[in-house]
Amino acid sequence: MDALEKRVQVFVRVKPTADFAQDMIKFGPDNKSIGIYTKKDAKKGVVNNRQTDWSFRLDGVLHNTSQDVAYETVAAKLVAEALIGYNGTIMCYGQTGAGKTYTMTGATAEYKHRGIIPRAIQQVFKAATCSVDSFLTVRISYLQIYNETLFDLLPTVTSSGSSDMQLAVVDCPQGVYVKGLSIHSVSHEEDALNLLFEARKPKAVAEHTLNKNSSRSHCIFTIYIESRFRAFCNVKCIHSKINLIDLAGSERLSKTGSQGQVLKEAMYINKSLSFLEQIIVALADPKRDHIPFRQSKLTHLLKDCLGGSCNTVLVANICGEAVHVEETLSSLHFATRMKWITTEPVLNETYDQEGTVKALEREIILLKQELAMRDNLVNRSVVTYEPLTDTQVAHIRSQVQKYLRGAIHEIDIVNIRQIQEVFKQFKVILSQQEQEVEARLRSKYILIDKSDSAAVAAVAVVGGDGRAAREEDGQALGAGTPPSASRSDSYCEEIPECSSFPPVRKEGIGSCLSEADLDVFSSSKSQVIISTKDLNVKEGARNQDPANSDAELPQASPVEDSQQPSSPPPKSVAFEHFKEEGGSEINQIYKENKSILLARKKRSSAVAQRINFIKQEMEGIKKALEAQKHGRWQEGEYVDEKGRIIIDEKEFLLIMKLKDLKEEYRSGYAELQDLKAEIQYCKELVDQCRNKLISEFEIWYSESFLIPRDVQEALRPGGSIRPGMIPINRVLCLEEDEQDRYERMQEMALPAGPASASFYKAKMKTDQKHVCTRTVASLRQMRKKPGLITAAGKNKPLS
Ligand code: ADP
Ligand code: MG
Repeated sequence: MDALEKRVQVFVRVKPTADFAQDMIKFGPDNKSIGIYTKKDAKKGVVNNRQTDWSFRLDGVLHNTSQDVAYETVAAKLVAEALIGYNGTIMCYGQTGAGKTYTMTGATAEYKHRGIIPRAIQQVFKAATCSVDSFLTVRISYLQIYNETLFDLLPTVTSSGSSDMQLAVVDCPQGVYVKGLSIHSVSHEEDALNLLFEARKPKAVAEHTLNKNSSRSHCIFTIYIESRFRAFCNVKCIHSKINLIDLAGSERLSKTGSQGQVLKEAMYINKSLSFLEQIIVALADPKRDHIPFRQSKLTHLLKDCLGGSCNTVLVANICGEAVHVEETLSSLHFATRMKWITTEPVLNETYDQEGTVKALEREIILLKQELAMRDNLVNRSVVTYEPLTDTQVAHIRSQVQKYLRGAIHEIDIVNIRQIQEVFKQFKVILSQQEQEVEARLRSKYILIDKSDSAAVAAVAVVGGDGRAAREEDGQALGAGTPPSASRSDSYCEEIPECSSFPPVRKEGIGSCLSEADLDVFSSSKSQVIISTKDLNVKEGARNQDPANSDAELPQASPVEDSQQPSSPPPKSVAFEHFKEEGGSEINQIYKENKSILLARKKRSSAVAQRINFIKQEMEGIKKALEAQKHGRWQEGEYVDEKGRIIIDEKEFLLIMKLKDLKEEYRSGYAELQDLKAEIQYCKELVDQCRNKLISEFEIWYSESFLIPRDVQEALRPGGSIRPGMIPINRVLCLEEDEQDRYERMQEMALPAGPASASFYKAKMKTDQKHVCTRTVASLRQMRKKPGLITAAGKNKPLS
């Protein structure tokens, strides 16, 4: 809602007269002010303080103005704003005969003398015909307030043919309105004018000294406008009304000379106008919080126009003759007071929900037609855009399932609804799978919270007695991925006693491993006790019938099972076997290096011990020498002819001994340093050998027991794949070897010619590339064998 504070607009219209009081009434050059100059009242004697000169500032003075200009100045803008949703009120105030009716209704005889009402009707209907995007409805009502009674000036037709319904001014949240007043829909300007002219027949006119046709009633003509706009699919409604009020004469009673009924009428009129005046004074005073609008019917009815939310214009009609100067003054006072009233016009705009829904429905129909036309143009078979039926949803579900199984490779895109449904089905399947996986894990593992140290400790204890084990960090010895690597929970499993699987110790080693193996394996960072792969193997072993374990299992239904070797041996046993066969050479080197290391360590500790002993001996001799020296000083020293101190034989021997020990110490220390370097070097060698032994074993174990039979065939000498080429870590090993070779080459060649570096680098790169190409080619060849990769992929990172 737009709210903009405005003031009541006030204009003065002077009725043309041949007897214009030029000395008394003067207009400002800008036509916005008027000055009244009166002579001192002679009756009130010499002492007379009454003000005689007045100046009034207004929004405009209409003097010798045509009806046309008067309308443009006073009403055109207000009516235009009513057409966009602002209520408006124009009222004419002034003494009887000053031209109120002429201004408001005009002379009905001649078109050019028509007043504000017919011109406003015309403007509204003109807007209705010009507007393309809105639909305008116009209705009118005409009310008369006479002696505080409300009359409907328009003919009302009731079932009884009478129009005697009691009218009343009623307040409601939307504003003030007259209950029972007839409101007439008019579709043409002419209809509205007919009603106006019909109503103009005076209802209560008394003979009067001022003007025979003077009306002592207030007449309110209202135009109700309702327009509906369509802004996209919203149906916007604008409601507004224009009140056009011809007030009763404001002349003072004394001047009318009325008596009896006429006097009573005049009193009523004056009363309601004086209430209007009071309200205007109250409204202009910002400190007043209560405005007594309900004091009279007129003020009650004008509550919205004066105190609130509409554009309000006042026309003060005055007579230009000297004889009416006091009434003129009174009217101008009233007008200036009115000028200080502020209003806040409010836009009466609503959105018709029902209309909006209907508009949206129409829009949907239109868009569907558009789609159908486009489908036709591109020769698309008939596609429906209706919501999907249960059968269609079921079909989409089955398509998604087929797609996930790999039975189909594409899902045809039909329309947006179908795409949305496909995604929905993916979501459904995903959440089902999540639940299934979780349920499976829960049935197999105990879920513990890693942050719960007590629970973790408890599990560790259980793991320690060989019943259960815990996986940490996913660093499984068998390089498997833990089932919940990305989760903060751990799964623990009860280990059943199984002959093919060794009991597990907390240190992470199978019990049947030797001390040497312990050494080998304990240097691995892994704290994992059971690898996932081991678990898989064990599962496989448990599930298979021992009788069929050596068979080819052609009848087994799942592809992966048919490719699994039957119960691979435990790693500890296999490791022993490996060390005697394929890994014997590296194992031998490893053992030799280890024994060298051990020997060096022993020698090193012996040398260290010896050095310590020498050091102690040296300390003792140093102390003895100190004592000798001290004794010499006390007894007095002997000096030879050259001034050299003479020492006894004991001291001499001690010195000689110390010298020898120092020599021995030095050589021992040097030996120890050499040994330390040697030990460090040996340690590295042993580490390298150990790692090599483990990785060779892992490859050998995988190739021997975990790779499907068909692949094993291919791996045999003469097969399509050279052993050791499959696992990616093996390929990396080859790269390391190349690197080693390059380094060796560098050592040999570079000292002779440093310029050869680029050449060797290039050569090494080409060699590496060649190895890589060969590897990829071998892998491709293997892939060509149907079913191999799928099966192997379950256990190894082949694909
Ligand atoms: P009121 O309604 O204030 O009592 P009227 O509008 O009936 O006064 O005017 C009295 C007479 O003066 C009417 O005959 C009217 O035609 C005439 N009259 C009033 N104002 C004008 C005007 N501006 N120009 C021409 N005639 C006017
Ligand atoms: Mg009149």
